[in-house]
Amino acid sequence: MVFQLTPTELERYRRQIMLPGFGEAAQNRLKSSTVLVTGVGGLGGTAALYLAVAGVGKLILLRGGDLRLDDMNRQVLMTEDWVGKPRVFKAKMTLENINPDVEIQAIEQYVTPENVDALVQASDLVLDCAHNFIERDLLNTACVGWDKPMVEAAMNDMEAYLTTIVPGKTPCLSCIFPEKPNWDKRGFGVLGAVSGTLACLTALEAIKVLTGIGKPLYSQLLTMDLNSLDFAKRRPYHDPHCPVCGDKNPERNLTNLSNRNNSLLLAIP
Ligand SMILES: [Zn+2]
Repeated sequence: MVFQLTPTELERYRRQIMLPGFGEAAQNRLKSSTVLVTGVGGLGGTAALYLAVAGVGKLILLRGGDLRLDDMNRQVLMTEDWVGKPRVFKAKMTLENINPDVEIQAIEQYVTPENVDALVQASDLVLDCAHNFIERDLLNTACVGWDKPMVEAAMNDMEAYLTTIVPGKTPCLSCIFPEKPNWDKRGFGVLGAVSGTLACLTALEAIKVLTGIGKPLYSQLLTMDLNSLDFAKRRPYHDPHCPVCGDKNPERNLTNLSNRNNSLLLAIP
């Protein structure tokens, strides 16, 4: 569905509409889009902020749990008086105050086998900022099953990675990490500027996918060491026999399992 931009919206988004290749067409695509944001914390919450100010029509925010004082070094949608209350509802209030033209649905839940399919089906794109690989794998499988693109962002201490998964076209999360990195622990050290850096890139990636501008990280894994500011792009292996996306891989049957012994990530020349 395409909506008409109101005079207010044309003025609110004027500075991005004037970007080369953007225009009212890209703005309309954002307005027509629904994005599911999982894990609305330092990463997902900040990414949601930039999607809201960019004018994405509807955001579905998914996050369980109450705000803690030690969230406040990075969760920029929160205020200290909210400590002890469910984060996701404060995120909705803050975003609605910043941009009342965006529809926000707040759900105080984590990603579960019971809710994941309906949430992914209701969305045009998913931001995976979930806490652990259990939730990430659920999202990945649902996105592959429902043919929905997923921006995959994760961090640990001062390291981060980012990629965009398009079912049938790019490696999925299971291709990229058949063995999960030891990142699915809560409570690691984090600076707000680090989660915020990754969040901005995550939102930018979503905007690119939704509008068609720029070059998203399709079949590319951006790795970032924020300590040294070393950024690298790598090409992850697309497993034709992946248990999640193998049926959608056009190269299935053209390669065999022996390729699986290749190194997981091949540096892009
Ligand atoms: Zn796969």
